[in-house]
Amino acid sequence: MLIIIVQRGCVNKMVKQETKNDKTYFMCEECNMYYKTKDLAEKCESHCRDKHACDTEITKYAVQLD
Ligand SMILES: [Zn+2]
Repeated sequence: MLIIIVQRGCVNKMVKQETKNDKTYFMCEECNMYYKTKDLAEKCESHCRDKHACDTEITKYAVQLD
C-alpha cells in the first residue's frame, strides 16, 4: 500500500494565476485546466503530479475560458 503524504508549504507551488475579463483564475500547470479558486487548482495539480491523471471529482469544477 502506497501512502503519499503531502506536506503543505513544502510542495513547490506551481499554480499559475491568470486574470481574464477582470476575473482571476488559477491554472493547474499539469493539465492546463482553470479553476476559480487557488485551492482547487492546487488540489488538481498535486493529484495530477502524483497520479499522472486527473481526478473527475476535482476537474468537474474546472472552468472553460474562451
Ligand atoms: Zn490538473
